[in-house]
Amino acid sequence: MRFPATCPRCHHTVQADYTDSGIHDLRCEQCSGAFTVYLRKHKFEMLFDLGTRALMDGYAREAVSSFAASLERFFEFYTRASALEQAAQHGEDFEVAHARLEKTWKLITAQSERQLGAFAMQYLQRQGQPPDFLTPQTLGSEFRNRVIHRGYLPPRQEVEAYAARTFALIDRLLTELGDVASHAQLEQELIYARHMAQQGDEVIAVFEEHPGMFRVRRFGSRLPPKQQANKALPATHTNDAISFQAALRERGELLGQVFKSAGMDV
Ligand SMILES: [Zn+2]
Repeated sequence: MRFPATCPRCHHTVQADYTDSGIHDLRCEQCSGAFTVYLRKHKFEMLFDLGTRALMDGYAREAVSSFAASLERFFEFYTRASALEQAAQHGEDFEVAHARLEKTWKLITAQSERQLGAFAMQYLQRQGQPPDFLTPQTLGSEFRNRVIHRGYLPPRQEVEAYAARTFALIDRLLTELGDVASHAQLEQELIYARHMAQQGDEVIAVFEEHPGMFRVRRFGSRLPPKQQANKALPATHTNDAISFQAALRERGELLGQVFKSAGMDV
């Protein structure tokens, strides 16, 4: 999966492969200058956008695995942001808190059930409410497993419904997180800063933000600050299908442009 990057020296377009880390060390084919593109986007956003793009292009089955992976990575995002928020409240140094979190995450990284457990407890602690959406029904686990593990070929409407449900859940939790999401963003910035520090002066750093389905809702929300405080929102604050379709209308075209200009060669 690729995206077009512009050389900061001569403006030549270079095709770059999306990396897992968001760090793209590139060399321009025209002027031979080195540059690094740092993509300010989280894994869950990337995966959800890939799923949306696959759905738009008619790859309904492939879309399901991207949406499912996006939700898992979002739970990680929430857990990290929440843990870092607590560390900040205790006056801990951010780098120390990040290092501790990394060590802890290593212990649960290979087991998604452990991660889900960590998320559930963080949610309870932060919101003061049980994460009652963690049921197989709400998460669409049965559908997901049929598609991913049993080779079920779902019709588009079923995938859209699954996408809408996943979208609504992430959207709701992002709203509940509010500005706290920036703690997880800061982690990414820290990793980028470390990479930058290792590079020579000749390498130009380029920071990019690509449009996506969740872009608008990150780092603060439409809610006034008072409502952003630790209060769980009712599960019904958005209609799944309507909010997903609205986001698709608003942002789908931009999303299409980002992916299309490099070809959807997944
Ligand atoms: Zn160049």
